[in-house]
Amino acid sequence: IDPVRMNSQATESFENSTQPEPMKNRNLMSITEQRESLPIFKFRNEIIRSVVENQFLIIQGETGSGKTTQVAQYLFEGGLNLKGKIACTQPRRVAAVTVAKRVAEEYGCILGQEVGYKIRFVDMTSPNTVIKYMTDGILLRECLSDANLDNYSVIILDEAHERSIYTDVLFGVLKKAAKRRPKLRVVISSATLNTDQFSKFFNNAKVLKIPGKMFPVEIKYQANPVRDYFNAAVNTVLNIHLQEPEGDILCFLTGQDEIDYACEIIDEIAEADDENFGNLYAYALYSALPFEEQFEIFSQIAEGNRKVIFATNIAETSMTIDGVVYVVDPGYVKQKVYDAKTGFESLIVVPISKASADQRCGRAGRVMPGKCFRIYTESAYENEMLEVNVPDIQRSNLSNVVLHLKSIGVRDILNFDFMDPPSRDFLIAALKELYLLEALDSDEKVTPMGRRMNQFPVEPNYAKMLLVSDHIKCTDEIVTIIAMLSVQNIFYSPKKNKHLANEKKDSFNHPVGDHLRLWNVYKKWEMNYKKNPRWCKNHFVNEKKLHEAYEVRKNLLEILQSRNFDIYSAGKNIERIQLAICVGFFKNIAHKAPSSIFRNKNDKSYRTLEENPEIVYINRSSCLFYQLPEWVVYNNIRETSKKFFQEITVINPNWLPYIAKGMYRRKDNDDKDNEEKLIKAFVEAQSAKEYKF
Ligand code: ADP
Ligand code: MG
Repeated sequence: IDPVRMNSQATESFENSTQPEPMKNRNLMSITEQRESLPIFKFRNEIIRSVVENQFLIIQGETGSGKTTQVAQYLFEGGLNLKGKIACTQPRRVAAVTVAKRVAEEYGCILGQEVGYKIRFVDMTSPNTVIKYMTDGILLRECLSDANLDNYSVIILDEAHERSIYTDVLFGVLKKAAKRRPKLRVVISSATLNTDQFSKFFNNAKVLKIPGKMFPVEIKYQANPVRDYFNAAVNTVLNIHLQEPEGDILCFLTGQDEIDYACEIIDEIAEADDENFGNLYAYALYSALPFEEQFEIFSQIAEGNRKVIFATNIAETSMTIDGVVYVVDPGYVKQKVYDAKTGFESLIVVPISKASADQRCGRAGRVMPGKCFRIYTESAYENEMLEVNVPDIQRSNLSNVVLHLKSIGVRDILNFDFMDPPSRDFLIAALKELYLLEALDSDEKVTPMGRRMNQFPVEPNYAKMLLVSDHIKCTDEIVTIIAMLSVQNIFYSPKKNKHLANEKKDSFNHPVGDHLRLWNVYKKWEMNYKKNPRWCKNHFVNEKKLHEAYEVRKNLLEILQSRNFDIYSAGKNIERIQLAICVGFFKNIAHKAPSSIFRNKNDKSYRTLEENPEIVYINRSSCLFYQLPEWVVYNNIRETSKKFFQEITVINPNWLPYIAKGMYRRKDNDDKDNEEKLIKAFVEAQSAKEYKF
C-alpha cells in the first residue's frame, strides 16, 4: 500500500474526527523504528518492572499490539534471562515458528541461536538460546522431566484467550510450580478484554492493559439468513474487489478444503476475467500449510494489486497480517467436540461466539478504517451466538492430559486446579481409557507401560500402538503409519483432474485398509522420489507433507533407538500391523450393520461397539469403500452431513477378547471357537515374553 495515498484516504474519511494517526508503512521503517512504533513499546519499562516485582502478570492488548514479538525481548533486555531461558508458548505450531523467525530477525541472530523455537518433532534451539518460542504442548511435555521448570526464568503463556487445552492445563501446573519456586515468573498474555478471570485465578495478579490503536470498522450484516455461507463469502470477496477502494481482504473459512477451493475459484476467475480480477491474488493460511507457503502471505505485492487471504481461525488472533482493510466473516469455525459417553471426538463446523465475531471484525481496523462483512444477520449475532467460546478442555478427549498430569505427580485429577474444570465425565472417561491401555493401574497410578508411553511425543493410543508393535515385531511399519497420520492431507485432487487423481490414489490401495495405503505411499515415495522428481506431481501426493512425514518418522526412530528398541519389519505378516492398530485404537472399533431384508447391499453403514451404537459410514476416499469388511478399526470420525470414518483398517474380531484388558470379552463366552484359540496362540507366539494386551 502506498503510504501517502493511505494517509490521504484516512484523512478524507476522518476529517472531523479525532482518530489516531494511521500507521506508517512498516516496510519503510527500520526494525528499531518498527519495534518502537508498536503500542506496547510505551509499556516496555513497566512490563520489565512488573515482572521483576510480581510472580504473575497479566498483559492484555489487541492483536497486533506487540505482545508476542516484544514481551520476551523486553524481558531479555531487562536481564530476566540470567537465571534461565525465557519461554513463550503458542497454542499453534505455525505461530511458534513464524514468530520465532520474526523475533530472530528483530534480535539480529540466526534462527535457532539466541532466538529459537521448539515444536513437536522439530527442535530449533541451541545451548545459546535465551528466547524460546514453543507450543504449549511441548512445555507441558517438558514438565515431565522438569516439574519446576528450572530451565526457565520466565514463562509467557501467550494467546491465553484461545484457551487451548494445554494452555489451560499449564495454568494450573505453573501456578503450582510458582508456589514451589518463588523466583519463577509467569506472564499471561491475552487479546481479549476478559482478563478478570485470569487475574483471579493467579491470586489477583496485576493486569496491564495496552490500549489498542484501532480504527473504526463498519459492520455490514445480511438482511436474511444465508444458506450457503461458502458461496456467499466468495461472492462477497469478489464484490469487495469490484466496489471498494484498495486494501487487502481477509476471509475466514473453516478448513483447508474450503480454503484451497476458494483460492482455486479466485485464480480461475482472475484468469478468465483479467480486466476485472486480474489484479486479485488469493492466498491460503491454515495450520497444515507448509511453512514456506505461510510466509507468502507476508510478502509484498505490487502496487495496484489486491490480496485476498482465505484463513482459518488462525488469523483471528494468533497471526497478524498487515494491510487488511476488509474482513469477510461467514460466522463459522471448525471445532472439536467430544462425547465422553461414546468416546467420539469429531470436528464439526459450528457457529462462532460473539467474542470471536468481534475479534474477526477487529482485524479490519488495524491500518485504517475498515469494513467487516458478516455473512449472517444481526439477529443471529445478537440472539444466537454464545458470548464466548467454550474452552477446548471442556470439549476434548483428555487422556493425554490426564496421563501428563498423573506423570508429573498430580494424584487427585478430579480436584486439580483447573481455571474452568472439564466435566467429571470427561476426566473419568480419560482415566478409564488409560486404565484399559494399561497406562494406569487400578489405583490410578502410572504403570511402567504408562511411563514408557510418555517417552513418545504422541497421543497415548499411538504410543501404545508403538510399544505393541515392538512386542509383535512390526515397529517399522507402525512408525511410518504414525508419521503419515500425523501429517494430514497427503493426497490432493485438483478440480480439473479429479478423475485422474482418484485413479492414482487408488493405485496405492491396500487390501486391508487405509493405514496400509498410507504406508504404501510412503514406501513408494521413498523408492522413487530421488530418481523421479516428478513422482509426487504425477501421483497427486503432497510432496512437502511426505518430507514432513519423513522428519516425524526419523524423530520417532531416533527415540526408539535411543531407548534400545530394535526396529522390526512385519514382512509378509501384515496382520501384525492390523493387530497393533487394533490394540492402540481399541475403542474405535465398528462392525458392519447386520444384513437383513432392510439392509441394502450397498449400505455403507457401520455400528460402533457402545451400548448405544453410533451409525458411521465409509467414505468414498477410503480404499475399503467397495469391500465393506465386517469389522474395522478407525482412526477418526469426521462429521459432515453424516458421520464418516477417516482411515479404517480391517480387523479380526477374534482379537477383541484379548485387547483392552479384556473389555470385549463376551459374557457368554463358554464356547470360544477354534479360530479364537488360534489367534490367542498367535498373539502369544508373537510376544517375546508373557504379554497381555
Ligand atoms: P500481538 O501478539 O500483540 O498480536 P505481535 O507481536 O504478533 O502482536 O505483532 C506485532 C507486529 O509485528 C504486527 O503488527 C506485525 O506488524 C509485526 N509482525 C509480527 N510478525 C511478523 C512477521 N512474521 N513478519 C513481519 N511482521 C510481523
Ligand atoms: Mg500474539
